[in-house]
Amino acid sequence: MSETGLTEITESIKKIIRDVPDFPKKGIIFKDITPLLADHAMFGKMIKLMAEPYRNRGITKVLGIEARGFLLAAPIAMELKAGLVPVRKTGKLPYKTVSASYALEYGRDTLQIHEDAVTKDEKVLIVDDVLATGGTASAVCELVEKLGGKVAAIAMLIELEFLKGRAKLAGREINSLIKY
Ligand code: AMP
Repeated sequence: MSETGLTEITESIKKIIRDVPDFPKKGIIFKDITPLLADHAMFGKMIKLMAEPYRNRGITKVLGIEARGFLLAAPIAMELKAGLVPVRKTGKLPYKTVSASYALEYGRDTLQIHEDAVTKDEKVLIVDDVLATGGTASAVCELVEKLGGKVAAIAMLIELEFLKGRAKLAGREINSLIKY
């Protein structure tokens, strides 16, 4: 695709994403992707663009981070002919799990993955909707590596550059379609 064509599509995707001020708390501008998900044509284009850099890279698992990450990871996994793996908040997965904790603004949170979801040396793509401080994605990298997997890359729809998430993920390949 030409550079101009790409910019046109990312600009239209940007226009559909809705800013919701002061959600879930004062001072946060929430990037609401539900209007994008509801638009069949734009959603399809977005999935193809997000999957593009990873074709023929030998990725065998795509990890989606609860909950909006699931909605993007599933169609990307289909595009890449890879398996889909959910990474969930603590206590949600039924089988044996491994865990990683990460810092929130106040306190900590824990994410879990099934212990057999990724095998040794398997190449994994991590997918979520928004890269903010990078704490969540970094905990997911830890989960993959605890299981002996290799993080091939991290694919985000949106990157909030001013929060410097990339610094927390130094040395990792990160692609984001839309930057603020
Ligand atoms: P972080 O760990 O700070 O990178 O935060 C990433 C997680 O929080 C992702 O799962 C996002 O879905 C969510 N998130 C953070 N900031 C926003 C925002 N401004 N709008 C929507 N979701 C956000």
